[in-house]
Amino acid sequence: MAIKTEKEYRERIDKLRPKLFFGGKKVERLNDHPISKGVIDATARVYELTTDPEYADTMTAISHLTGEPISRALHIHQSKEDLFKRLDMARLGSQKLGTCNYRCPGNEMLPSLAATTWEIDHDKGTEYHQRFNDYMRYAQENDLVVSGSVTDPKGDRSKRPLEQDPDFYVHVVEKKADGIVVNGAKQHATGAYAADETLVLPGISSKKGEEDYALAFVIPNGSPGVTYIGQYNSFSVEREYEKETRVLGNPIYGQRETCLIVFDHVFVPWDRVFMCGEVEYTQKFITRFAKTHRMNCGGACKVGFMDLIIGATKLMAEYNGLSKASHIAQKITRMLQLNDTSLACATAAAYFGKEEPEGSGVFMPDETMGNIAKLNTNDGFWEVIALAGDIAGGIPATMPSEKELDNPEIKDYVAKYLKAAAPADQRMRIARFLQNWVAGLHGIGTYQGSGPSQSQYVSIYRIADLESKKKMALDLANAIG
Ligand SMILES: Cc1cc2nc3c(=O)[nH]c(=O)nc-3n(C[C@H](O)[C@H](O)[C@H](O)COP(=O)(O)OP(=O)(O)OC[C@H]3O[C@@H](n4cnc5c(N)ncnc54)[C@H](O)[C@@H]3O)c2cc1C
Repeated sequence: MAIKTEKEYRERIDKLRPKLFFGGKKVERLNDHPISKGVIDATARVYELTTDPEYADTMTAISHLTGEPISRALHIHQSKEDLFKRLDMARLGSQKLGTCNYRCPGNEMLPSLAATTWEIDHDKGTEYHQRFNDYMRYAQENDLVVSGSVTDPKGDRSKRPLEQDPDFYVHVVEKKADGIVVNGAKQHATGAYAADETLVLPGISSKKGEEDYALAFVIPNGSPGVTYIGQYNSFSVEREYEKETRVLGNPIYGQRETCLIVFDHVFVPWDRVFMCGEVEYTQKFITRFAKTHRMNCGGACKVGFMDLIIGATKLMAEYNGLSKASHIAQKITRMLQLNDTSLACATAAAYFGKEEPEGSGVFMPDETMGNIAKLNTNDGFWEVIALAGDIAGGIPATMPSEKELDNPEIKDYVAKYLKAAAPADQRMRIARFLQNWVAGLHGIGTYQGSGPSQSQYVSIYRIADLESKKKMALDLANAIG
């Protein structure tokens, strides 16, 4: 059976010993550390959803390679229908977890890899696509979690890779008969240490002379020479030291966890290399990944997050006794408008999706609509969290710990003065949940994840058909009666 259970995933991951660090300390076992355990629990929940008959249509697909049912997280879109279902999967994951589902970033690279390896082979007679398909069969049969890394540390953003420390972008340092050796790092890699494998794509469009940087490959978790350095912040400290996780904002699954992955002379066998040196295809890899990622990330994943924020905000209004206040209804409607606009653009991206390149069998979303979905979310998410903060009042920022409700010396004060139209415990629970969204990492995470607005402006302007719009204006302006 190609679809594995949550238990099988946990058993597999429990055997891994990646070289991982949090807060200045090495982690011996992923399951023993509260931060990595949160990532495992979130990923395991995705396996549960996949094996739940209620979500089978959303969470599973039929492999175009083997004809077997597989997790949709390892499926390559073969139709518009697949694009629509991919959106449903992203939104469902966010609604159920309130954090990354950790199977998305790798999944969103797969269509780009399928399409671009097909194109390189078609143009140049290479064997990248065959290798990629062989890898996909292996990943699908074992139902692997594949994380995805595109973002290089980049160093000085005004300089090209060869104008500064060469390791600021992942690159080949040696080619051998049986594979390549790579150096460098990838940043912000979501959930990579609790995934089975990490896919690496170029983060920059390479030019002639930069062949060593035109790289796409996959490596197993914990490959020799790989170090994972986890993000660490006040939420991490809280998760690490708070024994009563029930009082955390997102009790089981926590924050979206990312890491810096360092590649120090990492060997990659040729059968796991999907591009090596073809600079003219790097832009295609990036563009195809970006349009898929922006449709899902901006127009479905973050829509699921906003569903949670809107729900919690409405609860807060009711708990504060303001369920009938008209300005609150209007503000919640504005939140819905922002959220549903992103979903509408993503749905349009799927609707206008098409096979790319022709003959490859791979379906890609419409680039303009996918970028607009993400751009709308970049601005919209900030506004949604601002409105949530407006409606909830100051309590998500100033509340005491819910543990005070167990403290005999003060529990009656807290129960009395934090009560409103709902009991204090109920109100504090939702205030804490909202704190996680409005006073935490999610604003910047949503804005930068899959690229800041400037990246979408560039894409949208590059592909816009402004000539035809100019012509329309001229035709009408110069019309003679
Ligand atoms: C929560 C989260 C999860 C993520 N998950 C992943 C993941 O799983 N895999 C992955 O690969 N990446 C991931 N990312 C990375 C994400 O795609 C990047 O953060 C984003 O592309 C911005 O890159 P940066 O952080 O290096 O910022 P920068 O590129 O430094 O951008 C900062 C600002 O500088 C501007 N800028 C940058 N370069 C230039 C230039 N040359 N000229 C003018 N202006 C410039 C940008 O427009 C932006 O406004 C994640 C990020 C976050 C926050």
